[in-house]
Amino acid sequence: MTASAPGKDKLLFTPGPLTTSYTVKQAMLRDLGSRDTEFIDLVRDIRARLLEVAGVSPGRFHAVIMQGSGTFALESVVSSTVPRDGGILVLVNGAYGRRIADIARVLAIPCRCLEYPETRCPDPGDVARVLEADPGITHVAVIHCETTTGIVNPIEAIGRVVAERGRTFFVDAMSSFGGIPIDLEACRIDYLVTSANKCLEGVPGFGIVLARRSSLAETRGLARSLSLDLWAQAERLEADGQFRFTPPTHALVAFRRALVELECEGGVPARAARYRRNHELLLEGMTALGFEPYLAPEHRGYIITSFKYPDHPGFSFETFSERLRRRGHVIYPGKVSRAACFRIGHIGHVFSHDVMSLLAAIGEVLEGLGISAYRDRAVRQRTATRPEVS
Ligand SMILES: *Cc1c(COP(=O)(O)O)cnc(C)c1O
Repeated sequence: MTASAPGKDKLLFTPGPLTTSYTVKQAMLRDLGSRDTEFIDLVRDIRARLLEVAGVSPGRFHAVIMQGSGTFALESVVSSTVPRDGGILVLVNGAYGRRIADIARVLAIPCRCLEYPETRCPDPGDVARVLEADPGITHVAVIHCETTTGIVNPIEAIGRVVAERGRTFFVDAMSSFGGIPIDLEACRIDYLVTSANKCLEGVPGFGIVLARRSSLAETRGLARSLSLDLWAQAERLEADGQFRFTPPTHALVAFRRALVELECEGGVPARAARYRRNHELLLEGMTALGFEPYLAPEHRGYIITSFKYPDHPGFSFETFSERLRRRGHVIYPGKVSRAACFRIGHIGHVFSHDVMSLLAAIGEVLEGLGISAYRDRAVRQRTATRPEVS
């Protein structure tokens, strides 16, 4: 695989869109008609490959591609699968959970939220209690990796509780699918949503819904939107391999290339190992620079890491991130409501040497801001707690 860019684009350490390989970008230099058999074959191949990446059988799941960003695919599931007399329970421990609840509210779908602090995971016991008390809830939604902080929620334990009580289980795995192995059967997932431009390392343009066939089959006619009708989209893709409305042809050609590159890398386990290395390297370097991660170790995932702002009057995130940007590295502010944090992503076409270059840039920027004193103090404090060897 070649370098990510011919030396001009910044490296994206963000929650997405992300750095893609040069060859993925290059694959887009095509004009394909959406009714061309070459394109129809390409879409079939992509859908088959997605089920392989998920490790599910085509007899049990559909891979439905939905135009738009990831949120459009989430909205497609919420708007197309909850019956008129149904309701949704959303487990919220960050901004993306709140977004699913917002989607339901806009659609006037009865919605309840179980809310948790952003530093904690939803409790499957709470879910069981709510489901037993409220027969109006037909669907349960949860975020897998809450990209707000990087916390990874226990979807298998929650899925068991949901399935045992006969409800439909919907997982937003936008920022984790392809980067964290997910067993859809063990997690009892009915609908999993992800996006072309996160761990699958394609370019933006569409979302993906992995839909359990037996669940989707019952949703005909439930859609509250024409363009986001999940059942109709799946039906048409199955029937003649075509989209109902203009597909993002260039993004799809790039995406097939991205899926081939995922396979060449060694599939999800190898990609997971690369992201985990990126995370570990970054965490070690950031700790040495005096930064403190926001989440407790048991909640930290390796997709994206939140760090607290340094407790130093010379620190301004705007200046910090602007100077990093000038050095070719892009990071994002936090999305956490209660704490001053910023986030560094570990996903996309980025490798250990890119993480090292980011760390070097952060060190330089800290020096420039006169914050190295803070770092020295933090390091001194840490070494002071170690037993002295005299
Ligand atoms: C990125 C992301 C989304 C979707 O965002 P879009 O901007 O619509 O692509 C949704 N949920 C999570 C958890 C995400 O990380």
